[in-house]
Amino acid sequence: GRPPVTVIGLGDMGRALAGAFLDRGHPTAVWNRTASRADALAARGATVAATPAEAIAASPLTVVCLLDDGAVRKVLEPAAATLRGRTLVNLTNGTPGQARETAAWAAGQGAEYVDGGIMAVPPMIGGPGALVLYSGSPAAFTGHEATLGALGAARHLGTDPGLAALYDVALLSAMYGMFGGFFQAVALTRSEKVPAAEFTPMVAAWLGAMMESLPALAEAVDSGDHSATGSNLRMQAAAYVNLLDAAREQGVGTELMEPMRALLDRAVAAGHGDGDLSSLVDLLRTAPANG
Ligand code: NDP
Repeated sequence: GRPPVTVIGLGDMGRALAGAFLDRGHPTAVWNRTASRADALAARGATVAATPAEAIAASPLTVVCLLDDGAVRKVLEPAAATLRGRTLVNLTNGTPGQARETAAWAAGQGAEYVDGGIMAVPPMIGGPGALVLYSGSPAAFTGHEATLGALGAARHLGTDPGLAALYDVALLSAMYGMFGGFFQAVALTRSEKVPAAEFTPMVAAWLGAMMESLPALAEAVDSGDHSATGSNLRMQAAAYVNLLDAAREQGVGTELMEPMRALLDRAVAAGHGDGDLSSLVDLLRTAPANG
């Protein structure tokens, strides 16, 4: 049969992960702080452990998916001794620094460590659209790749355990930029009673068209040549002021939009006005930061 696996953390995501392992026929042990969240999984055949240590002891592979890094430490530290000789895969969202610290902590316990980032929402887990990013111990990843494949496509990014979190937060940053832009667009059109559902196909088509410019922007970022443009940055900075003024005219907030204006102004002041928007990436990597 399939190898056993343990899932610690049965929130919306953890329950989806455990369910995917059960669907594939893996003997699955589970633990959650609020025990009742294991009930439906138990009815599907999962073994409910009384403690994190008991859950970890049930399998060579433990997948952890808790709210945040603080919860991971709180749950795993009392069970540390049980991790020796086993593999810990941490799919909790966090920073690259947190992943590297947890990797060092796990190594200190004699455990193999793989960090991960889930690029999917719970209903996608186990389906063709789910991607899970991994980094850390290549041997541990390869050894459990077939089991982890139950969750979705698995991509190992490298030995540095921080890489999966880095890619994860980068992709989420892009996502929130898109959502923020979409919400601003809908707030503007709703200010004139245009139903969001009526306007949204136009937004989606527009974003799709603009997405086609990403590869060219990426090339400019990599080469440092920001000269190619039919839409110079100075013009864009001038037009951007209209996005803010129009929002104020319509009684719509500008808090999502102000930071980009500040960055565009900084780019013009730094002498990048004749070039492409791609110069903003280098600017983001220099002060002022975290303003
Ligand atoms: P939920 O809020 O549904 O679940 C949170 C889980 O963390 C629960 O199991 C909860 O236990 C546990 N928990 C929180 N604090 C503690 C603590 N101090 N001690 C012990 N357990 C604790 O979140 P999700 O399941 O949706 O998310 C889990 C992780 O997956 C997060 O890092 C999230 O960013 C990531 N993720 C989620 C996605 C999603 O769309 N849902 C998508 C991609 C990643 P209890 O049940 O007892 O409260």
